[in-house]
Amino acid sequence: MAARAWDWLDGFPALDLVNTVKRVGWQEREQLEDPADLDSWLDVAALPAPRPASVDEEDLRALRALRDPALRLLHARLGRGEWLPADVKAINAHVLAAPELVLLGEHPRETVRHPLGIHSVMTRLLAGLAAEVRDATQRCDLAFCDAPGCGLVFYRRRTNQSWCGAACGNRVRVARHQAG
Ligand SMILES: [Zn+2]
Repeated sequence: MAARAWDWLDGFPALDLVNTVKRVGWQEREQLEDPADLDSWLDVAALPAPRPASVDEEDLRALRALRDPALRLLHARLGRGEWLPADVKAINAHVLAAPELVLLGEHPRETVRHPLGIHSVMTRLLAGLAAEVRDATQRCDLAFCDAPGCGLVFYRRRTNQSWCGAACGNRVRVARHQAG
């Protein structure tokens, strides 16, 4: 399969992770179907840690095993489904698998991640993504774009923002007009 364009990704690790499920029309579609999809996503997604040089089926399974509970939790935070203890446990297990401390850096607005122990690149990446998901659940600007062809989780740039962008608002207005 040809690598995807991923042009809807927004530059936030937790969101880039869960937005690997995206609507086509009103249908939620998996965008990480094979290791080539994962490879192309790793190239463009905002990542909190270095990516592995190459990825296989096992890495794809591992990433999706983090992505699925992450997606459910962000939706649950937004009132779309249940906040499940098993999902919380899955995220926390990833954070605990490669714990790190955040230390002050050499420059005023810089911090340095200090890993506790030695872990594989993939384990550190999944731990970093899980920590980003944890932080995303605490943000009050977290939102869901309920437009056809979208269904993305995003951060609002102003209060009362309903759609992730103008294109989605336009698509909803056109759909309503056609339905009416
Ligand atoms: Zn949208």
